[in-house]
Amino acid sequence: VAGRLSHALVQGISDFIIEDTEEARQELGRPINVIEGPLMDGMGVVGDLFGAGKMFLPQVVKSARVMKQAVAHLEPFLESEKQEGTSRGKIVMATVKGDVHDIGKNIVGVVLGCNNYEVIDLGVMVPMEKILDTAEEVGADVVGLSGLITPSLDEMVSVAQEMQRRDLNVPLLIGGATTSRQHTAVRIAPAYEKTVAHVQDASRAVGVVAKLLNLEQRVVLDQENRSEQLKLRDLHEAKSKKPLLKQAEAQRNAPQYDWSEVDIPEPTFIGRRSIDPIKLSDLVPYIDWTFFFSAWELRGRFPAILDDEKFGSTARELYEHGQQMLEKMINEELISAKASYGFWPANSEHDDIILWTDSSRSQELARFPMLRQQSALSNGAPNRCLSDFIAPTSTNRSDYLGAFAITAGLGAESLARRYEEDLNDYDSILVKALADRLAEAGAEWLHARARLDWNYGTNEKFSNEELIEERYRGIRPAFGYPACPDHRPKRTLFSILGAEDIGMQLTESCAMSPAASVSGLYFAHPESHYFSVGSLGRDQIEDYAQRLGSGDPSESERWLGPNLGYAVEKKS
Ligand code: SAH
Repeated sequence: VAGRLSHALVQGISDFIIEDTEEARQELGRPINVIEGPLMDGMGVVGDLFGAGKMFLPQVVKSARVMKQAVAHLEPFLESEKQEGTSRGKIVMATVKGDVHDIGKNIVGVVLGCNNYEVIDLGVMVPMEKILDTAEEVGADVVGLSGLITPSLDEMVSVAQEMQRRDLNVPLLIGGATTSRQHTAVRIAPAYEKTVAHVQDASRAVGVVAKLLNLEQRVVLDQENRSEQLKLRDLHEAKSKKPLLKQAEAQRNAPQYDWSEVDIPEPTFIGRRSIDPIKLSDLVPYIDWTFFFSAWELRGRFPAILDDEKFGSTARELYEHGQQMLEKMINEELISAKASYGFWPANSEHDDIILWTDSSRSQELARFPMLRQQSALSNGAPNRCLSDFIAPTSTNRSDYLGAFAITAGLGAESLARRYEEDLNDYDSILVKALADRLAEAGAEWLHARARLDWNYGTNEKFSNEELIEERYRGIRPAFGYPACPDHRPKRTLFSILGAEDIGMQLTESCAMSPAASVSGLYFAHPESHYFSVGSLGRDQIEDYAQRLGSGDPSESERWLGPNLGYAVEKKS
């Protein structure tokens, strides 16, 4: 029976797990002997294979599902014997306040759990008091913070400051898509004098935690980590000394378009329209599967990834499970998707984009202040700003701006929760990853439709690959991304689109909820393209704060932290 249990764990097969666990319990006498015997041996094999790069995250998460079911079967017996399993250490994890993204955190939690760490996962949007109170209450050995959007970086700094204030002695781990070694070194680590380590991906989390919980290895890790962070801070300081152009100089170096020549199409309607509901099966052909695999840390382009020498078979199995789950979600109408989009007369002024209520262009509906690249660029490249793609008021040309918001996450969270309650993290993570894919696919689908409505995409014929490569005319920049890194204008965007009417909301950090949502602006300018605004000077931040209607630049400094090209005085 021990052999069968090990096989079930390594292969991630749960078909006979309850029967086999029960048989092992009767054979080994006590439930704890099953956990600490065959189950932990089996997970040990999984851990070793994973560590050796012979097993990959989807398989580990599947194995963890088997382990959870076995332990759940043993739990009533454990309780009657008043026994507790022995864990290697306690880890409190959370997605920080204002943020709703948790796929990566959940995967890390599962991987740590199956390496016999006790994971206390507080979920998403967790205020720092709750994270740190819990850490103190349970005597956490490690605190792990996760977040996806840039405002979460600032929240992580606050958590670190609070850990310092409470004088905690617990290592802090930082993870999530916008977190980086650099930011951790420059902003977070200086706020807390104990170990603050950035963990790039789930596969590295176990190694780092194991070292942190071993006294000798912890010292070594801490020294290495500190010296690396010192270097990163020096590098950052050198970089931030690189002089920026004055805002006015950057503006003078804006790209010049001959506005009497630029082709400006006229949309077939003005104002917003909602699509409620969207037929989900229409979105499936637009899915970019490459990102589905990268959510599971399988890196490579789809479909070539299915034939990858190392993890092709894992990828094929994951793809099959993904397709089955997707079919179920669609056929049984377990989730739904909605969108709102529209077009408005628009002109640019200074670096703002003005939306007019109607074609008389006399009354402002909304204004999007934009940010301009301020670095001194080589070989005569212009300093760009998204407002450059919209005709200035002074040209007297009737230009337009589009906007959109789409979600495919309605119902996804409760469906994922149901799987979680069923001790099935694998399917829970699948649901979330697929909802994300559908939202992005929906953004692609909606953009194609908007180009038709805008009377310029009428003759296009692109394959999904060509769409993913953005071969079409126009762009759909998203707030919080490099061309428009501030998340706050999403509030204006949501308001003009009536996004709440289709079930979308913004958190205090302007994360979109449901998590599987996408929003942005549409530009039709034939030469419009994505760029990164990069480092910003104090003069532009001050001007930008004014244009936003708040004289206080410190607020903007907080929201644009990663883009600041100058040092901000520390808050005490
Ligand atoms: N096929 C991918 C597409 C998403 S990423 C997927 O399924 O996940 C591409 C999107 O990110 C763009 O459509 C745009 O909305 C946003 N984006 C990319 N680069 C950007 C930039 N520099 N500034 C603003 N938005 C950007």
